[in-house]
This record gives sequence, C-alpha cells and structure tokens, in this order.
Amino acid sequence: MTGQGAHPGRDNGPRGRTVKRWLGALALVLPALPGLALEVDFRPVADGVYAYIGDKGPRSVDNEGLNANIGLVVTPAGAVLIDSGATFQSARQIDAAVRKVTRQPVRWVINTGGQDHRWLGNGYFRAQGAELIAHAKARADMQSRGGDQLAALRTTLGERADGTVPTLPTRLVDGADARLELGGTVFELQHRGGGHTPGDILVWLPEKNVLFAGDTVYVDRLLAVIPVSSTRHWLDTFAAIEQLAPQRIVPGHGAVTDVATARAQTYDYLQALRTQMKRAVDNGADIGDAVRSFDGEPFMRLLNADELMPGNANRVYLEIERE
Ligand SMILES: [Zn+2]
Repeated sequence: MTGQGAHPGRDNGPRGRTVKRWLGALALVLPALPGLALEVDFRPVADGVYAYIGDKGPRSVDNEGLNANIGLVVTPAGAVLIDSGATFQSARQIDAAVRKVTRQPVRWVINTGGQDHRWLGNGYFRAQGAELIAHAKARADMQSRGGDQLAALRTTLGERADGTVPTLPTRLVDGADARLELGGTVFELQHRGGGHTPGDILVWLPEKNVLFAGDTVYVDRLLAVIPVSSTRHWLDTFAAIEQLAPQRIVPGHGAVTDVATARAQTYDYLQALRTQMKRAVDNGADIGDAVRSFDGEPFMRLLNADELMPGNANRVYLEIERE
C-alpha cells in the first residue's frame, strides 16, 4: 500500500540513502504493475482468529474496492473466511494472505451481508471449492443489486474488476438464529432484520469471545446509510451486540474495537439521526431543511463525515416517513 517506502528514521548512512532512492524509484513504477496495488495482511485477534483491517476511505484503484475488513478463522479442518472482498482479483490477494497464516485452504466463506465488498469475491473461492454461507435475506439482496454493484466497481476499478462474476451463496441460513460448527469451531449467526443491508448478520464466536459485526459496526469512519438500509433494524442488531457483550469486535470498517467504542461511533450516530429526523417529520419540516439542520457535531471527526452526512440524514428522513 502507499507510504511503505518512506521510513526517514531508518536512513542511516549512504547505504540507507541508496535503499531509499531505490524504493523511491520502485514507488514510481509500482502503480503500473498489475496485481501489486493491494496488500492484504491478517493480524491476530484471538487464538486462531485474524482480521484484515481495510482502507477506511472510499473505493479506489489502490484498494481495489476492498475498503472494508475481512475476517479469518483457522480450524484443523480448513479455514473460514468472513467475507470475500469486492472482486475476483482482490479475493486472490486475500487468499494469498490466508496462505501466509495457515496451510489450511479456505473451505468456508461466510458473507455477513449484501454489500459488494462482502461477497463479490465469492466466485474466486467457489472455484477453489469453498462453500459460501449467507442469510437468505442477503442472497435476495445480492440477486437484486449484484449487477449494479459490479457495474459501479467496473467504473471505479477498470481492469482491476476483470474476472469478477457475482456468485451467490451456496448454503443459506434463515430466521433469527443459526448455529454452525465448522471444523469444530462454533459460529453463531444472528439476524435481527439487517441494518446497513437487509441480510446483515452478526457472526459470533462464543469460544473465542470475538464478534465479526460486518457492516453493522463502523468505527474510525462514518457509517453509510444506503437506500436498502434500515436504521430501525440496525438499532435492533446493535441491541443484540450489547447482549453478547463481546470482548473484541471486528467491525465492518475501522480498527478492532470494543462495545463502548462501537456504541459511541455507530449506535449514538444512528440514534441522533433517527431522533432528529423523526422530530423533523413530526413537525412537517421540509426534507432539505431537516438535512441542513442536522447536528452531527460529535461525529464530524470521523473519516468521510463531510461526504456522507447529508445523504445519511436524507435517507433516514425518508425511512421515518415510511414508518
Ligand atoms: Zn461495508
């Protein structure tokens, strides 16, 4: 990724300067080399549990659309991937990163929702023989939005989107709760109506005290409310998170975190949006005025806040109007 060649503190002597010059030259040619822009690395979260913390900005050629976190759980019978990335090519990079952690192949992929970076890498892992697991509501969402998601990624990524074929999950869970045992590790999947997308699930590992929250928790950067989001169900999902009281949360976006931080940066913002937009709808305020008057001050320090705040307020106003 960017900035890896720049370690001014390590420039000690002529040899250091030569290395620095060489790295500088390398940085100039890197963008032209296919397949080298994205570097995925899994960091340990708990015993046998890892996370890749993705870029926190918007989708770009540099991050290959993978501006999101990915999880990995290693079992003696195979690796379990939590989400498959945004494209075929970034899925290949994810797989290369898995191989640096374990010799176990990815046998299962759990898609935590229907957003592009949760599942458009499925085709790569399906070709390697992996089973693709998701909630039935996520499958329906993927089916309806997959074509548009891929078209948008092609516009942003150009040839880096090549090879990507929307590939639906092969094993569905339904209802509110499902318990899976994969390679001897327990995975509890909870669906509370979704949130960011209709099929968002929580992936809870009770034996590890780790929660993969998918797009229902954002930290460090502002969350996005999109047309298929339901902030009402999102709050229900958050209540389920608090009930689990996980020691560690791997959010959909941002650093590995805890419940208090997730509450401050995801729940409190959703609550502020709903409270203020409900007041506006109840008072018959015009949507434009409501959006302009939204007070998001406590959340302005989160990345992407300037860009996302008006659209989020707009969509929550419309959601509350429909309720
Ligand atoms: Zn996301």
